[in-house]
Amino acid sequence: MTLAALARDDASAQFLDAAAQGVLLYQRCSACGHAQLPIGGSVRTRCRNCGRNEAAWTPASGAATLVSWTSSPVRTADGTEPGPVIGLLELAEGPWLETQLRGLAGAPGELDEGAPFHVGFEQPEGSEPIPVFIAG
Ligand SMILES: [Zn+2]
Repeated sequence: MTLAALARDDASAQFLDAAAQGVLLYQRCSACGHAQLPIGGSVRTRCRNCGRNEAAWTPASGAATLVSWTSSPVRTADGTEPGPVIGLLELAEGPWLETQLRGLAGAPGELDEGAPFHVGFEQPEGSEPIPVFIAG
């Protein structure tokens, strides 16, 4: 399953430049310490905890644990085939991120809550790098 192309804008440029170097960024508020990731495709520097405009991009370790996951079969000409596994992961720094899972040894039903994952990046043709999470 390929990922949809991701395009940059001024607000996402710093995140995407780091992604191109294999580094996942998250935002940490310099006022209250709250850690967050932008949601809904809208990149803002306003802290969702204290409301100040002081959430600065910070490198994440790339380590995460699995919170939840789902997978739906994809319809094909011959019937269906397993679809991508979408995981909700908690970064070691605290923010949660939803993205595709890679490197799974078995079926999605064999995954365990709390399983360790680490960030990787994929770059579909014509796209910026997109974070995915790899088992282990
Ligand atoms: Zn704050």
